[in-house]
Amino acid sequence: MSDRDNEVPAAGRPVVLRGGTVLTMDDAHTVLTDADVLVVGDRIAAVGTALEVPDGTQEIDARGGIVMPGMIDTHRHMWQTAMRGYGADWTLTQYFVWYYLEHGKTFRPEDVHAGNLLSAWDALEAGVTTTVDWSHGLQTIDHAEAAVDALQAVPGRFVLAYGNIQAGPWEWTADPAVRAFLERRRRGSGDLLGFQLAFDVTGDPAFPEKAAFEAARDLGLPVTTHAGVWGATNDDGIRLMHEHGFMTPETVYVHASTLSSDSYQRIAATGGSASVSTESEQSAGQGYPSTWQLRRFDIPVSLSMDTSVWWSSDLFSAMRTTLGADRSREHLEAHAAGDTVTHVHLRAEQVVDWATRGGARALGRDDLGRLEPGAKADVVLIKNDASPVSFPLLNPYGHVAFQAQRGDVHTVIVDGRVVKYAHRLVGADLPALRRTIDATVEHLRSTMGEEAWAQGMNPDRPHDEVLDNPYQYTDYKSESTHDARPAVPAEPLL
Ligand SMILES: [Zn+2]
Repeated sequence: MSDRDNEVPAAGRPVVLRGGTVLTMDDAHTVLTDADVLVVGDRIAAVGTALEVPDGTQEIDARGGIVMPGMIDTHRHMWQTAMRGYGADWTLTQYFVWYYLEHGKTFRPEDVHAGNLLSAWDALEAGVTTTVDWSHGLQTIDHAEAAVDALQAVPGRFVLAYGNIQAGPWEWTADPAVRAFLERRRRGSGDLLGFQLAFDVTGDPAFPEKAAFEAARDLGLPVTTHAGVWGATNDDGIRLMHEHGFMTPETVYVHASTLSSDSYQRIAATGGSASVSTESEQSAGQGYPSTWQLRRFDIPVSLSMDTSVWWSSDLFSAMRTTLGADRSREHLEAHAAGDTVTHVHLRAEQVVDWATRGGARALGRDDLGRLEPGAKADVVLIKNDASPVSFPLLNPYGHVAFQAQRGDVHTVIVDGRVVKYAHRLVGADLPALRRTIDATVEHLRSTMGEEAWAQGMNPDRPHDEVLDNPYQYTDYKSESTHDARPAVPAEPLL
């Protein structure tokens, strides 16, 4: 079969991608040229040159393209996707005002459903085969049901990170209905849906979040937490988690930007990982994108896009901005010391690893993020014969990180199933999805009123209420952001 047929490979039959440059992302980061990847059932069956394939195998011509593992986004507020682009010029404070303080409550279950559906297809279209839905708008069980229903309606791999910004984590995790929901939806959810608990630790010395960590432990669920976020979470939260024994290898620290060496050492010592959302940190103000620090402490990294209120769900952007931010910082630090960087520390190969293996590691999924026999068949083909950017293909990691974009994603396979082919999603009813999203936008807009709607997109000034505490469920306020910091607020490299 050729692309010209524009015929989607039928479900259930083996598929072989023929003749591509294959980034296996195995332990040795083996790169094969003119190689094939054979998918049988939900697994990678073979990777190599001129593979023999079973009768009836469908062929996808990967010549001139790059075959790589599906990408993994470890932190994305999918429910916010119905507000795509609305907050392009926001700061984090304005985001907190809009979602935490004023309008987050306006989202109905059907609005969470609509945002999740759009976000899920958006991710698949960009070659992101696994997305952690950092779902902190679950103010009722109906909202939670709607979130999971949407994820299960799209043929991607998702992790619902259950959260609720409208109540203290010690409250909603104690709710028997929440626990029953988690137990029920986990049962028989299969391999395509996982669960985490999502909440933040304010640094309140009373450590009320302790009960939420205990709930996570009871339920056997990993915790994902926004850590090192200027004005919201800081070193105190990390220290409290550590002192109480809640920092574990499966804990994911989102952003991990405004933190001291002490916190990075605690994360490194307990084996957790950081989810870096460089585009977000650069615009919103959580702190300088942390990879340049995380590298010093050998803390594992995965990448994420955070929210489409500002950004896309496109990990090409994540790889590109992460390389830029890390290198920019390395040059800046060197220049401040009268020095010249002659070899950049962070390589394109490393960010491709973070976008694939890094995410798999963060989720404890050794069977994802690599193209090796026995691994899950989550595969992306980057190939766009109509684009002058597709050749020459000299440095495949560099090509992925700096040249490719979502429009170049030709084929996406999740769990052995072709979900995008010849640059088009398979089975997505986008006109229907658009009507659903329009209804959500109309609901939010009419509830807010035209003036508030326009003002929300271009806020004059932030509410003082959230400057020291975005979490409206607690009165605790940290003064930590009032202390002046050095001009470049982090410790020197050496
Ligand atoms: Zn976030």
